[in-house]
Amino acid sequence: MTAVDNETGIDSIWLQRLPVTLTDAYLAAHELGHVIRKVDNLSLLIVEEDLNYVDVAGYIKSIMEDRVIDKMLREKYNFILVDHYIDVMTNVMKFLDISIVVTGVNRIKMPLVHADYLLRWSLIDDDESFKREFDKYKRLMNENYQSIAEEGEDIAREAMKIGFETRDNQKQIFDYIINKYTLAEVLSVK
Ligand SMILES: [Zn+2]
Repeated sequence: MTAVDNETGIDSIWLQRLPVTLTDAYLAAHELGHVIRKVDNLSLLIVEEDLNYVDVAGYIKSIMEDRVIDKMLREKYNFILVDHYIDVMTNVMKFLDISIVVTGVNRIKMPLVHADYLLRWSLIDDDESFKREFDKYKRLMNENYQSIAEEGEDIAREAMKIGFETRDNQKQIFDYIINKYTLAEVLSVK
């Protein structure tokens, strides 16, 4: 994950271990992508008024930037995203077999995470076995978490329509999500 170091104010990437595998390298490069966009003044900072919404802010940030970062890693630096995506997807699907009632702030987090997955995983258009797994994931979400799945799809569709390249694009995505879940009192951007 990326964060600003409290003592130095410097952007930092926290590694749980030294990157040894290709997936580790991808994860580090992805976080670096967030930092580079920030240095290039291409990213918005989300401010939380309520600490219960820190994760929500993180997921909105992901929706605003993850796809464009992964697209760049894939097209410019030839990163193979499929292996990492499959790992995450396989893990996620273990929990989607049964429908559980989702409440409180989790009811906002889950469609946001779904939207981020849809945006990233749809980057893979040349791997049939990946596409089959991705269809399975979407089917599980639709069968067991229908309204959450639909909201995630709406957010992903809107974000694709707006685009991700500029700060103005990101502000529009942010506003769309903030209005959808009436979060204006807890989250703002600068
Ligand atoms: Zn990210």
